[in-house]
Amino acid sequence: MHMYIGGEWTDREDKISVINPFNNSIVDTVPSATTDDVELAINSAVSGAKDIAALSGYERYQILRKAADLLEERTEDFARIITLEEGKVISEGRLEVSRAVQTMTLSAEESKRIHGEMVPLDGAPGWSGQLGFTLRVPCGVVAAISPFNFPLNLVCHKVGPALAAGNSVILKPATDTPLSALKLTEILLEAGVPTGAIQCITGSGSSIGDPLVADSRVRKVTFTGSRDIGERICKTAGLKKVTMELGSNAPLIVMPDADIDKVVKATVSSGFSNAGQVCISAQRIITHEKVYGDYLDALSSEVELINTGDPLDESVKMGPMVRSQDAERVNGWIKEAVNAGARTVVGGEYSGAVHQATVVADVNPDMRISCEELFGPAVAVTRSAGIDEAIKMANDSNYGLSAGIFTQDIDWAMKFAREVESGNLMINSGPQYRADLMPYGGLKESGMGKEGPRYAVEEMTELKMVVYHP
Ligand code: NAP
Repeated sequence: MHMYIGGEWTDREDKISVINPFNNSIVDTVPSATTDDVELAINSAVSGAKDIAALSGYERYQILRKAADLLEERTEDFARIITLEEGKVISEGRLEVSRAVQTMTLSAEESKRIHGEMVPLDGAPGWSGQLGFTLRVPCGVVAAISPFNFPLNLVCHKVGPALAAGNSVILKPATDTPLSALKLTEILLEAGVPTGAIQCITGSGSSIGDPLVADSRVRKVTFTGSRDIGERICKTAGLKKVTMELGSNAPLIVMPDADIDKVVKATVSSGFSNAGQVCISAQRIITHEKVYGDYLDALSSEVELINTGDPLDESVKMGPMVRSQDAERVNGWIKEAVNAGARTVVGGEYSGAVHQATVVADVNPDMRISCEELFGPAVAVTRSAGIDEAIKMANDSNYGLSAGIFTQDIDWAMKFAREVESGNLMINSGPQYRADLMPYGGLKESGMGKEGPRYAVEEMTELKMVVYHP
C-alpha cells in the first residue's frame, strides 16, 4: 500500500515489508517515509486543520458516522488484515473491528456535544457585572502515534476524537502493523474527511518520530506505546499538549472467598488474549495462600487447553507474538525466573514467534517476569497472606494502568478501589477490561491523560475564557 500525505497516496523507492508473524510471509509493503515527508505532511495538515475546523459539528458527525458504517460493512476484510499483520486470532480480529466501529460511532456523537460553559464571575466579591464563558476550540494539528497490538481500534481512539473535535491528524502507525491504519484512512476519505485533515505516514518511529513531535506547528501529540518511547516523546515534544497511554504489569488479586472457576476464566481471558500483548493483560496474579494450590491446579487445566497455531484457523485459540524476538525475550524472562526459584506449571516453550501459554508459580515480586512489563503469554503467580499484603504487592510497581480483585467481601473490594494506585480498577473481573466509552488511562508511569471519545475530545481541544465587560 502507499501512504497518504499532502492530499495524495504517495509511494517511495525505499520500502518496508509488513510480515505475517506466523509464517514470515510478506503481507504487503509500505513506503519508508523520510523527514521531507514529515514536512510535507505537516504543511498539508496545517491547511487541513482550517478546512475541518470550518465544518459544523453536525457535518463532522455525518462524516464519522459514515466512516463507522463503512468500517462495519468491511468487518471481514479488516479482521483478516489485522490478523495477517499482527497475529491475533481471527475471532479477536473481528472483535477489534466491532470495537473500532463503536469507537468511531462514539466519536461521531461527541462531534455534536463540544461546548464551553458559563462562568459565574459574580461568585467572587467585587466581580459582578461582567459576563464570563468558555469556548472549546480545536488544538489544530494532532500527531497520533499508535502501537502494534490493536492496529485498528487504538488508531480509531485517536483519529475519531481528533476529527470530532475539528483537528487535522497526522497518523503514524506502528511499523509492524500499518495496513489497518492505511485502510482506515481510505474509509475516512471516502466518508468525506477533507483531504488535508488526515495524513497517514509510514516509516520508522526512530527516524521520523522526532521531527514530527518536535515541530511547533503540531499542537497536540497523542501517543500509545511503551513507557520509554513515551518519555522520549514528552522530552522532544516541548511545549505542547500530550496524552500518554503507556504500559503496565497489571495485578490480579485473588482473595480466599473468590469463586475459583470465575477467577480461572478471568485469568485465561485477561492473561492470554492476543498472546498476552495487551497493555492491561493480567500479569501478576497475587493469590491468597489459602487458595493458592486450588487456583494453580484449576488454572493449569484450563491453560493447557489453549492451543497455538495459524491465527486464521478458527480452531486456534492463540496466535504468534508480533515478532520472534519477542517470543525469545518472554522465554528468557521465564527461564530467568525458574533459575531463581520459580517453577513453570504449564507451557514454557516457544518456536519462532509462537510462545506457549505459560503459568509460572512461586514467583518472587522482584523477578523480572513480575516487576517489568512482560507483554507476552505468561502469568506470574505469587502467594499473599492477606488484603494488606496483596495491595502492597499490587502497588509495588512503577506502573498503574489496570488492576483486578476477586472477592465477595465489600470491605476488601472498597479498600482495593481506594488504595490500589491504578487508573482502572476491576472488582470481580480480570484487569483486561475496557469498554470503549469509558475514561481510560494510567497513573504513575502508565501515562497521563484519558482516552475514550468523550474524554479524548477534552484532551484534543483548548479552552478559551471570554469575559464581556458591559
Ligand atoms: P513502541 O515500541 O513504544 O511503539 C509505539 C509507536 O511509537 C510506534 O508507532 C513506533 O514506531 C513509535 N515510535 C518509536 N520511536 C519513536 C520516536 N522516537 N518518536 C515517536 N514515535 C516513535 O510500542 P509497541 O511495541 O508498538 O506497543 C507496545 C507497548 O504499547 C506496550 O508497552 C504496551 O503496554 C503499550 N500499550 C499501551 C496501551 C494503553 O492504552 N495504555 C495500549 C496498547 C499498548 P515504530 O513502530 O516505527 O517503531
